Amino acid sequence: MTTVSAYAAPAAKAPLERTTIQRRPVGEFDVLIDIKFAGICHSDIHQAREGWGEAIFPMVPGHEIAGVVTEVGTGVTKYAVGDRVGVGCLVDSCRECENCKVGLEQHCTGGGVGTYNAIGKDGEPTYGGYSEKVVVDENFVVRIPDGLSLDVAAPLLCAGITTYSPLKHWGAGPDKKVAVIGLGGLGHMGVKIAHALGAEVTVLSQSLRKKDDGLKLGADHYHATSDPKTFEELAGTFDLILSTVSAPLDFGAYLSLVKTGGALVNVGAPEEPISLNLFSLIGGNKTLAGSMIGGIAETQEMLDFCAEHGLGAEIELIRADQINEAYERVLASDVRYRFVIDTATI
Ligand SMILES: [Zn+2]
Ligand SMILES: [Zn+2]
Repeated sequence: MTTVSAYAAPAAKAPLERTTIQRRPVGEFDVLIDIKFAGICHSDIHQAREGWGEAIFPMVPGHEIAGVVTEVGTGVTKYAVGDRVGVGCLVDSCRECENCKVGLEQHCTGGGVGTYNAIGKDGEPTYGGYSEKVVVDENFVVRIPDGLSLDVAAPLLCAGITTYSPLKHWGAGPDKKVAVIGLGGLGHMGVKIAHALGAEVTVLSQSLRKKDDGLKLGADHYHATSDPKTFEELAGTFDLILSTVSAPLDFGAYLSLVKTGGALVNVGAPEEPISLNLFSLIGGNKTLAGSMIGGIAETQEMLDFCAEHGLGAEIELIRADQINEAYERVLASDVRYRFVIDTATI
């Protein structure tokens, strides 16, 4: 076992504090990663505060991990010491179920293991990226291409794949009109990726406060959803709308912006159930869908795509002792656009 420094929430809703944790010995198919940067995802806050139900404490959050391999097990074939790598939301799965077999490990039905707030196959709790080092099976590690700096690559491991996967699945590309609801950590990557895929991109945000940023990130148009005229002007416009917000939306109103045969896909999840008049789907053969991160192979594809197109996240680099303050700022939507922890400060 290796003792490493980490930042952990000792209990639900308690502030995170510096502590130490144990990492397992490097097994036959494991790599030891010296973590350089860890992104702060909104779901870290949901889980550290038990917003999504009972959680495991102490909790070391962090599923946007970028670092360098410092040791490999005897059976490892994909990575060598010195490789630049990333770890996202998953560190293991059953590898045998129908979903695992087709690269949808995020939907494993036989026992997927989250990067933190989960129990690993060794029966021990998993601890995430707000720490100095992590030991992960090589099959759940992805390569960060040389063209991407590790700090701006870290958020791609969740925010990047969460938006890339549905944009690809629903055919974002040339001659397609794509709207992204919300310009936060997820939304800003959605805009960059949809633009790089060749789509005509519109941001739908509550106000025009971040309009200049949105256009710089690659949006062609930017509309305020607080203005009722937006919904009149854009009726029936979009092939695809990607909702990245977790606030409850008027889904009927947003579906009215979807073209015949188009889709509204959610990657943000409101905590409360929604109410919807199904005529907003029936009229126009529309689809209301969801999407959750992506499999390991698709995560690698996303990183390669981002490197090819020079896409990293827009980040605010922070010290570990600023994590609690950063959480408050994320909750206040006061971040442009992802906090990333310099793990050398842990
Ligand atoms: Zn996340
Ligand atoms: Zn499985």
